[in-house]
Amino acid sequence: MSTGLISSDTIVALATSPGVNGAIAVIRLSGAEAIHITNRVFKGKNLLEQPSHTIHFGTIRDGDDIIDEVLVSLFVGPNSYTKEHVVEISTHNSAYIIERVIHLLMKQGARAAKPGEFTLRAFLNGGLDLSQAEAVADLIASNSAASHQVAMQQMRGGFSNQLKKLREDLVHFASLIELELDFSEEDVEFANRDQLRLLITNIYQVIRKLIASFEQGNVLKNGVPVVIAGKPNVGKSTLLNALLNEERAIVSEIAGTTRDTIEDEINIHGITFRFIDTAGIRETADIIEAKGVERTREKMRQARLIVYLFDPTQDSVADVQTQIAEVQHLNIPFVTIVNKSDLITVEQRLAFDVLKPLYISAKQQEGIDDLKDELLNQVNLANVNHDDVMVTNIRHVEALQHTQEALEKVLYGLDNPVTSDFLAMDIRQSLHHLGEITGAVTTDDLLENIFSKFCIGK
Ligand code: GDP
Repeated sequence: MSTGLISSDTIVALATSPGVNGAIAVIRLSGAEAIHITNRVFKGKNLLEQPSHTIHFGTIRDGDDIIDEVLVSLFVGPNSYTKEHVVEISTHNSAYIIERVIHLLMKQGARAAKPGEFTLRAFLNGGLDLSQAEAVADLIASNSAASHQVAMQQMRGGFSNQLKKLREDLVHFASLIELELDFSEEDVEFANRDQLRLLITNIYQVIRKLIASFEQGNVLKNGVPVVIAGKPNVGKSTLLNALLNEERAIVSEIAGTTRDTIEDEINIHGITFRFIDTAGIRETADIIEAKGVERTREKMRQARLIVYLFDPTQDSVADVQTQIAEVQHLNIPFVTIVNKSDLITVEQRLAFDVLKPLYISAKQQEGIDDLKDELLNQVNLANVNHDDVMVTNIRHVEALQHTQEALEKVLYGLDNPVTSDFLAMDIRQSLHHLGEITGAVTTDDLLENIFSKFCIGK
């Protein structure tokens, strides 16, 4: 473990987001002097004499000048998020008050916290492992039931616990092999090779499952990328608007929650669907025209799901079949939609039935709920057990992949005449990569890279 990042300063930062219209702001301090520093500017009870996990009403004063009436929450270390003394001061949410209180605390000896420094301390002091610390950032960024659930699960340690168990198994393996090295002249085998192979194979399977969970984990965290495709004028924009408008109506019912980024995202039963390049959706119109094919394909390749729209008043069934064949090459799930069902004749419908499409009218907003069900169906996420351990972080997947490669070498070593010292080396390599995930093995650079992406106050 590196130690260059450990600092004994008492740090302070605004923990709530700045500039938002809310009633209350929370200023957080952490460090050996946190309670002393607060006590020097707080008028009320003597905070030095109060037990942990208590809240106290009083005023923050700069000399005789009352800056605000506040509530002070005390967390006496190590029973706190950072394992140090932590104080949270709830003030009224005024930029002026916040600035003056933080300034005052800094005059008394606190230093402004760097991004992620509270969580970094929680990690360095053993309160969280690295993957849990990263989940804190994901939790704060989560904007759907699914992304919230995976982040929460990871923060509570589901993911780390599984890895800890794997590492213990591997350490056991490594120590037996290394014992053999000590007795190398006597040609003994402490580690039963069959049991070892079984153990490594088991670990290998678990890691493979974790790696495979990334695709789903990533989708739950970041949303399902969807492309709406089809010839010009089949109704792609109309459909997108129908999907989004409904969403906007729901969203704007909750006052103050309307966000610009909702623009091209919809949320179906807690799962986010992101429409790729919706601003340029008209461009995808030229899907089957020679010029546009490559560019449109490129877009479609980014999709995890394609919604392919047809206009029964323009397209013939044979036409549609040709277009479908094109999409099938891409090996991405797609939904066949016949739009403008309000205009369709009985004969046309009979003809199109062979394609087993979903009939909708984007304009009249008919069949939209069926389409939503079908979207959920296609990504096969509705039945995902959110309690399953799921990898959502690219850094973790990479470390798992490196572990997997090292384990493959171990397996090779077990089946071929490879000496114990090489085996031991490959096992150590796997341990190293697994440790990178939880932070058992880490460098200052890696930590700085991870925590600098946090906001200040986290
Ligand atoms: P895009 O080029 O694929 O994006 O197609 P648009 O969404 O711009 O729609 C083309 C035309 O078809 C517009 O005049 C729409 O009003 C019309 N349209 C779209 N969906 C429907 C529908 O379900 N029924 C009917 N009757 N017209 C539709």
